[in-house]
Amino acid sequence: MKIIGHRINGEVSFEKNSRLGDVYNPATGEVERQVTLASISQVDKAVSVAKNALESWSATPPIKRARVMFKYKQLIEENIDELADMVGREHGKVLSDARGSIIRGLEVVEFACGIPHLLKGEYTEQVGTGVDSFSMRQPVGIAAGITPFNFPAMVPLWMFPIAIACGNTFILKPSERDPSCPMKLAELLEEAGAPPGVLNVVNGDKEAVNAILDHPDISAVSFVGSTPIARHVYSRGSLAGKRVQALGGAKNHMVIMPDADLDQTVDALMGAAYGSAGERCMAISVAVAVGDIGDKLIEKMTPKVSSLKIGPWDDPDAEMGPIITRESFDNITNLINEGEKDGASLIVDGRNLTLQGYEKGNFMGGTLFDNVKPGMSIYDQEIFGPVLSTVRASNYDEALNLVKSNPYGNGVSIFTRDGDTARDFASKANIGMVGINIPIPVPVAYHSFGGWKDSLFGSNNTYGMEGVRFYTKVKTVSSSWPSGIKDGALFSMPVMK
Ligand code: NAD
Repeated sequence: MKIIGHRINGEVSFEKNSRLGDVYNPATGEVERQVTLASISQVDKAVSVAKNALESWSATPPIKRARVMFKYKQLIEENIDELADMVGREHGKVLSDARGSIIRGLEVVEFACGIPHLLKGEYTEQVGTGVDSFSMRQPVGIAAGITPFNFPAMVPLWMFPIAIACGNTFILKPSERDPSCPMKLAELLEEAGAPPGVLNVVNGDKEAVNAILDHPDISAVSFVGSTPIARHVYSRGSLAGKRVQALGGAKNHMVIMPDADLDQTVDALMGAAYGSAGERCMAISVAVAVGDIGDKLIEKMTPKVSSLKIGPWDDPDAEMGPIITRESFDNITNLINEGEKDGASLIVDGRNLTLQGYEKGNFMGGTLFDNVKPGMSIYDQEIFGPVLSTVRASNYDEALNLVKSNPYGNGVSIFTRDGDTARDFASKANIGMVGINIPIPVPVAYHSFGGWKDSLFGSNNTYGMEGVRFYTKVKTVSSSWPSGIKDGALFSMPVMK
């Protein structure tokens, strides 16, 4: 059985008597690899390596750091098939989806190629007589990233390319469920020219996470995962004096107005609810059908959900793969059971699917509920599976209030042909990312990604200029070169003359 180690200082390393975690192939249900789970001392080792690499990396001219990113982009493109296979094999998502997620991560590498321009500071001549001021952005030091299972390439790529391009060194703690792709991404960055120790991968679970949060030499922590863990990471990391951005879970609604183009909406909803088996933080899990469109929506969705093509990651015809683990599979099944008990109408039931040749795989069909209401567990909880709940709303205000009163605020979308309604919605929805006739409004790399309410703790979004701001500190220098004039000591608050 292959054992996955850590990647520290440019080498794969193993710790003696390390705890091990099982890495499954969700399609077969078999353990294909095991991963080492770091102890506190392994995290310490990675931090001291990152500390050694910091001095020269942070002093490397930004253009040279950018050149590493240019080369890295090329290497990711050359290795995309292998990376996508690693994602599909350990996460379960189908190859076309895995490739798409890598390309969205690659866009952040492309953004990081522009770092010399992005780090340019500000300069003001003559803020006072003979006094000039300039501000610069300097790296925070050692940054760490803790990432979820559902995007083993894309979410790490949201973080370390920007942090490293800004001159920081980085420790990545990927999900222990699918660690192979992040390990390969680190290897490729070294091949692109990043010196050893600039990016280190420490595999592990909560022991490693807490060691990162408590470590006095780590200055910034980026986290993406579920809301309870995001809350924990934010409070423990902040208490230890770090800057923390912690992105949490979601319950994304799609508001469907009576004037929406129904065929377009149904196609968009199918992909957004069932793509990646619903295991996306931007997946649509609630369809809010406004006015009289509900019956027509259910009528069109039912045959499509019933005939979703489900298969292993490497089946080119499959639209949706299996669920990550048996435990997640059981949680999703229990929530569907509860939905039925709570009185929602179960239109398509995805339980009890078996796939010939993959009887032990975590395969589940698409599930569609109608007449779901707040207070039911399927509405209140993040399901993170291929389950779509339809809620009926009699008018736009009722739909908007549903969105506004939800504790999560990651993504939302509205489907309508009416610009006035769309504009009002975009302005009033208290959600971080809004789509207008776009089902999954994940912003491009030069904007930024982040939710509101229980979907993000901390003040910075991830990537884009928000990423540059998060991974740098501003220093402002005021300078004067007085020649011969002596004012004597000044005891009042200095005012510019
Ligand atoms: P998770 O919260 O279980 O794990 C995320 C990370 O935290 C992993 O690296 C894991 O090892 C670590 N972790 C788990 N339990 C911990 C504990 N008790 N203490 C400290 N660290 C711990 O999330 P997941 O199941 O891997 O991913 C799915 C979740 O992530 C969903 O809730 C999804 O919505 C969310 N997510 C959010 C975004 C976003 O951008 N907001 C993106 C992707 C996923």
